[in-house]
Amino acid sequence: MPLSAVDRPQLLPPLAPDEWPQEIPVIVVGGGPVGMSCALLLAQRGVEVLLVERRDFEFRLPRAHLLNVRTMEIFHTMGVADDIYRMGPDHDRWHKVAWYTSVDARTPYEGLKIGEVPAWGGGDDRERYAQASPRRYANLPQIRLDPLIHAHASAALPGRLRGGQEVRGIGQDEHGVSVTIVDLESGAIREQRAKYAIFADGGRTSNDLLEVEFDGVTAIRNVTTYHVSSDLSMWSEPDAILAHFVHPSGHGRRMGTMQAIGPINYSRDSEEWLVGVAGWMLEGDPEDHATHDRAIRRLLNLADDHPLEIHSINAWTYNGAVAQKYRAGRAFLAGDAAHRHPPTGGLGLNGGIQDAANLAWKLGAVLDGRAPESLLDSYQQERRPVAAYYTAHSLENANRHPPIAEALGFSDAATVEDEHRSLDVFLGTGPEPEAMRERVRTAVAANAFDFSQLNVEAGYHYSAGALLPDNSPLPEGYESPIVFQPVSRPGHHIPHAWLRRSNGGTEADPVSTVDLVAHEGFTLFVGDEASDTWRRAVDGVETTLPITVVSIPHSEDAWAAVREVDSSGAILVRPDWMVAWRVLESPPDLRTALQDAIDLILRGGARPAEDPADPFVERIRVAAERIAGLEIRR
Ligand SMILES: Cc1cc2nc3c(=O)[nH]c(=O)nc-3n(C[C@H](O)[C@H](O)[C@H](O)COP(=O)(O)OP(=O)(O)OC[C@H]3O[C@@H](n4cnc5c(N)ncnc54)[C@H](O)[C@@H]3O)c2cc1C
Repeated sequence: MPLSAVDRPQLLPPLAPDEWPQEIPVIVVGGGPVGMSCALLLAQRGVEVLLVERRDFEFRLPRAHLLNVRTMEIFHTMGVADDIYRMGPDHDRWHKVAWYTSVDARTPYEGLKIGEVPAWGGGDDRERYAQASPRRYANLPQIRLDPLIHAHASAALPGRLRGGQEVRGIGQDEHGVSVTIVDLESGAIREQRAKYAIFADGGRTSNDLLEVEFDGVTAIRNVTTYHVSSDLSMWSEPDAILAHFVHPSGHGRRMGTMQAIGPINYSRDSEEWLVGVAGWMLEGDPEDHATHDRAIRRLLNLADDHPLEIHSINAWTYNGAVAQKYRAGRAFLAGDAAHRHPPTGGLGLNGGIQDAANLAWKLGAVLDGRAPESLLDSYQQERRPVAAYYTAHSLENANRHPPIAEALGFSDAATVEDEHRSLDVFLGTGPEPEAMRERVRTAVAANAFDFSQLNVEAGYHYSAGALLPDNSPLPEGYESPIVFQPVSRPGHHIPHAWLRRSNGGTEADPVSTVDLVAHEGFTLFVGDEASDTWRRAVDGVETTLPITVVSIPHSEDAWAAVREVDSSGAILVRPDWMVAWRVLESPPDLRTALQDAIDLILRGGARPAEDPADPFVERIRVAAERIAGLEIRR
């Protein structure tokens, strides 16, 4: 049930540009996708928010583009999903990633296809992805996504998204925060009071202000990405929109990527492209335009006179870092401010939007006086281990590329001539070439852990926080990034099932269990035979948060196949779709069981003896060392 700012009656009177609120419930620092999503999700709960951003709201960098199904569920409730689907590629052919030596096949070793994998729910993965969510995977670069979120957030918070405002300090007391904001045009300084602050500033200011230490490694590798226009229709690839390049001149090192970003054609006829070039390939003064032009031409093998227009240049580094604390008193970190890792896996923005959804319902409930303050501690308990997992996995994804070059015989020790001979073998006939192609196929196929990582995207879970673990085992095969199994185990996302006959669903127009989760309070999923008993229990529970009972008939087979509780059991779901509690079958005293569960959940649950992030922190270290080891060769 989407509840967008646009659908919701306007609650807030507009604020004139020279008007500032005395005290505001929440101030958000940073107008990137995560900050704006925090603001919009809170506004949809009736919370007034002021968002300050040091730049203007012109979004110039394409950056993230992959929006996974869990993120699209959140965007659906924010009212932006339909526009994302409409503006992104509308054909099926973008669900593929390919490896090439370069683009323009002006010699036999250039423009050569090395391999491909299906990606992001395409090909044989279509059915599997459809089982995880009612929403489809989407693809829209931030240069077009951020303005959409901005439009919706501005409509929900008229006059409360302020550009040209830089936060330089924060003080805290028991009632709230005082944030020091500098107007970058006039130099005027103001102290803004708020009950809570969310720093979604990419970490640029908050990490020092709040003295945040990080687990992991920073500055592992330099990359420069370019937003360019060029006619690359000579590319022989008919289907993929993302290419990774492995070329003899790289001697096994990562070289770069290229990705079609439309806006009309998302194919080799794309009008615009995002090109990423490894730092080691930049030769010359980085302030000189020619340095960048040369690097792009080298990566793609473009002739010197081939038209190429560079719109923007963005230098960034690979990091593998997760904040040790997500909360400092009344200030919270979200998005890149709390976790930074390479885009291999496309989990940065997605993880940040999921931070926003996790924090928004909790802050909304605490600000309303409907939940105790301690609920807010569960934000770190839940999100930090997921960020550590995503960081480790993203770094490991980056390490799945060098074996392709190795399988092709590209290495530090080989000369370009040796490597051309290797490519001759790759293209040849007979047992030796076939054996080499098999090795290359295996190395390419290992990247399914990145591009078919449904379990990472849709199956992540919280082992502690605002939930009651039931000590059931994790689903079989859970360690696999690929194998996703819908489960109703506490800490996991509610299973998606299409209901065809109940809760408004019809044979022609089914409704998903995901869309039946209430935006505020808890939702209790029960079987229809036990629903009266459960409704009586709900009526007897003392809580200020609403509990919506969803009763599903036994005959709904799709739900019966995934709910895991019997017809007398129940599943309690939070507004961010995570299961907080379940009973497999009806307990003797339903009301007391439900009351105890809700009380514990709202207190933020029990603290685990061991930090669930620890094993991932070790994986981050190992993966980062491997990347760094490759970087220092030659
Ligand atoms: C090339 C590339 C490709 C990527 N691809 C993907 C992908 O496919 N999928 C994915 O999920 N992620 C991807 N990412 C990562 C993604 O871009 C980031 O994770 C995401 O932008 C983080 O959003 P954010 O809002 O947390 O931070 P940011 O986008 O960094 O926004 C922070 C904002 O805070 C503002 N700010 C900073 N300090 C202050 C201050 N003191 N006062 C006021 N304002 C301040 C900044 O100006 C900025 O606008 C990619 C990144 C890159 C570089």
